[in-house]
Amino acid sequence: MNCRECKEHLYEYLDRELTPEVERDIRLHLEECPPCGEQFDFEKLFLEFLKARCRAQGAPPELKRRILNELFDE
Ligand SMILES: [Zn+2]
Repeated sequence: MNCRECKEHLYEYLDRELTPEVERDIRLHLEECPPCGEQFDFEKLFLEFLKARCRAQGAPPELKRRILNELFDE
């Protein structure tokens, strides 16, 4: 597992869509690689935030794009 592979699988990992073997490889990489670990923490928080907002607001189709704009629009 290298950084590129780790990033490619990050969302699948968060969505629990990976095989146990790949999941284990990613977990090991995240522990050994601080930059990937930080990115993982960020994506995880962001996904949880999105899910909470979607539940609260009944997931209108524009929601995800709007939240992304709010977060990254400077
Ligand atoms: Zn890495």
